[in-house]
Amino acid sequence: MPARGGVQVTPDSVLAGNHKNEKQHRREICTVGRWMYQREYIVACEGNVSVRLSDGRILTTPTCMNKGTLEPDDLVVVDLDGRHLEGTRRMSSEVLMHLLFYRLRPDVSAVCHAHPSTATGFAVAGRALDQALLPEVVIGLGKIPLVRYATPGTPELSQALEPYVENYDALLLANHGAVTCGPDLLTAFYRMETIEHTAKITLAAENAGSPKLFSSREVAKLMAARVRYGVVAPPGNGAELPVTSDGDENVTDEITLRRAELDALIEDAVRKDRARR
Ligand SMILES: [Zn+2]
Repeated sequence: MPARGGVQVTPDSVLAGNHKNEKQHRREICTVGRWMYQREYIVACEGNVSVRLSDGRILTTPTCMNKGTLEPDDLVVVDLDGRHLEGTRRMSSEVLMHLLFYRLRPDVSAVCHAHPSTATGFAVAGRALDQALLPEVVIGLGKIPLVRYATPGTPELSQALEPYVENYDALLLANHGAVTCGPDLLTAFYRMETIEHTAKITLAAENAGSPKLFSSREVAKLMAARVRYGVVAPPGNGAELPVTSDGDENVTDEITLRRAELDALIEDAVRKDRARR
C-alpha cells in the first residue's frame, strides 16, 4: 500500500484534512458511504455525503443509489447554486441542505446526512440530544439540537435549518434523521458517529435509571477545555449550552481558567467579532 505522510493508505482510508485531489475525494466519499451503510446509518438509497473541492465546486453522492456500493464515477459535481456540472448520475434534492452549509460556513468542507436508527428515533420522538451527559460530546459539539420538521429536499427544510447552521456542527432533523458538517470529511463522519453513539448511551442510561446531568459549573469547565483539545467552535454566537442539572443557576459562579485557555477564549471572541463585520 502507498504511504502518505507516514500513514498507510488502504482502499478503506479517509485521511484527515481537505487538501486532496478530486480523485482522492471521490474515493473517500465512496468509503464514507460504505461506512455509513455498514454501520446501518442508512439503508437502501438513503443518505448523502459531499465535500467542497479546492475550486469551490461541490462533489456529492447521486440520488437513487445505495451509498454503500458507490464507485468514484457515480459521484456528481454541482455548483453552490445547485446546478449540475458533471457526472452522468442525477444529484439528490437533499443536496440543497449541504449547499446551505457551504454557503453559510466558509470553514465547512464536508457534510454528511444519514438516518442512524437510534438518533433518528429521538428525532421522531421530538427530542433533541441536548442534555449535558458526556464530556467528549459537550467539548466537541456542545449540544445537538432538533430542527423542526420540513419536507426533505425542499427550500422549507433549508429555512428551518438556517438559524442552526452557523452555531452547531451536528443537528437532528425532526421525523427525518441527522446532518453533520466539518472542516473535512473524516470530521463530518466522526460527528455522525458521535450523534448515534450519544443517542444509544442516552437511551441506555434512561433504561438503566435516571441519567445524571452535569452541573452548569462542570459544563463551563468542559467548554473552557475546548482550547486544550484544539476544538474550533462554529463561527456563530448563538449556540446554546446543553441542559444541566441546575438549569444554569450557578452560571455566575467563579471558574478557574489557565492563561492559555483565557487567551484562546479572547482570541476566539475577537475572531468572531471580525467575521461579523
Ligand atoms: Zn434524508
